[in-house]
Amino acid sequence: MTVRDILSIGHPALRAPAAAVPPSEIASSRVQGIVDDLIDTMRHANGAGLAANQIGETARIVVIEVNDNPRYPYKPRIPLTVAINPELEVLDNETVVINEGCLSVPLRGDVVRSVNLGVRYCDRDGAEHRVEARGLTAGTWQHECDHLDGVLITDRADPSTLCTWEEFERHHRDAFIERISRFTELVGS
Ligand code: ZN
Repeated sequence: MTVRDILSIGHPALRAPAAAVPPSEIASSRVQGIVDDLIDTMRHANGAGLAANQIGETARIVVIEVNDNPRYPYKPRIPLTVAINPELEVLDNETVVINEGCLSVPLRGDVVRSVNLGVRYCDRDGAEHRVEARGLTAGTWQHECDHLDGVLITDRADPSTLCTWEEFERHHRDAFIERISRFTELVGS
């Protein structure tokens, strides 16, 4: 297990659509190694999630975990989830504007996300799962799965809302947390 470098916006791997992982390869040392490195790298960076593209591996694998996260103190907890070949299903038309950050982008910005999702994926043992995710947790899933399609928050954010983390903390954080308060205690699945 290795803490890998996280690629920054501008690296071509962040724009490359990731390839599906054949089920027969989930147990391979290559795929298991990517999973281990994603977990280590996400935790080392205090991320809420990490997609394989962000460490230069264009395979459809994301990891998500939220404990007491100093980077995102308002996010509901999510147990460690390894999702291989995740597929999202938008369940209705409800949307919410979430101010998102990304380990590959130095800015935060407001992104419109679906509130209610169904998520299908395989875990690292190849078992299939179907969960429902809501609110901020649904936003995390959409953010990580965007990476697998080569999409970054700068593509989706209202440009007028882009700001540094420092200025977000100073000028926008409290209003954002108030606005999304109905989601901050909501467990995802
Ligand atoms: Zn990201």
